[in-house]
Parts: sequence; structure tokens; C-alpha cells
Amino acid sequence: MKGDSCELGFVICGHPAIARCSICGQDFCAIHGNHELEVCRNCLPIYLREMEKQRELATEETRRRIAEKLNSHGRCGHKNCGASTHLELCQRCMTWYCPKHITTYSYRYQLHRRDGIKRMNDQIALCEACAPHLRDYEKDMF
Ligand SMILES: [Zn+2]
Ligand SMILES: [Zn+2]
Ligand SMILES: [Zn+2]
Ligand SMILES: [Zn+2]
Repeated sequence: MKGDSCELGFVICGHPAIARCSICGQDFCAIHGNHELEVCRNCLPIYLREMEKQRELATEETRRRIAEKLNSHGRCGHKNCGASTHLELCQRCMTWYCPKHITTYSYRYQLHRRDGIKRMNDQIALCEACAPHLRDYEKDMF
């Protein structure tokens, strides 16, 4: 059965398979998958999530490249900013920004040690793009 007909659907579909899913390896017909993407219907959400992640990564890469270039000219890493004084280092992406484009956040986390849990306070400077990642720093440390 496998290899020549589609096995997806509530009842086994039985339509001729037109492609094989690149994620799960299942053969699927025209109804139960996207043959241009080579992804079956079941795996499509995974595929789209992965694509979204790739897109974000690419955007982030471009942003850093621009920031590094601006930094190499002594300028704030924010596009169209041009400020060149009081630059501060973003402690996540390691590029420099002017006070308008970087913020120092206070955060708390718990440090788990053999002799107990310590509550810690710390500060971190993050640029606009990195600010949403502040909660990564609020996680407990072991
Ligand atoms: Zn699949
Ligand atoms: Zn089918
Ligand atoms: Zn940053
Ligand atoms: Zn700036």
C-alpha cells in the first residue's frame, strides 16, 4: 500500500500519491498535502512554524550586519539614527546603540545552589530588537 497511494485522511484516502512529505516521509495525494512544498497536511503547521523561524533569523542577521557596519563607523546601530556619542553595548546582540535606542532593564532571577535558593537582582542593557528577550534572563539559574 505504502508507496503508491495516499494514506492520509480520516478514512484511508486511497487517491494516487503525487508526492512524498519531506518531514514525515508519508506519500500523499493532491488533497492531503502541498506538493510544491513537499509537505503533507499533517506536517504543514510544523513546516510553517519552521519557515517563520527561518525568516526571523534572516531578519535578525540582516539587522546585526547593518548595526555592525554602523558601529564600525562609530554610529548607533539603529538604522537612520546617526548618533555617535554615549553609545552603549547591547549585552545580547553585542552591538552598540545610543541612549535613545538602548534601555537598561532591572530584572530578578533565582539562583539555585546546593545551599539553597538565592534571589538575585541584576541589570542588563538591551537594544530595541533584543528587549523582547528580557524574560530569557528572568529564568532561574541552576
Ligand atoms: Zn508529513
Ligand atoms: Zn489523500
Ligand atoms: Zn541587541
Ligand atoms: Zn540611536
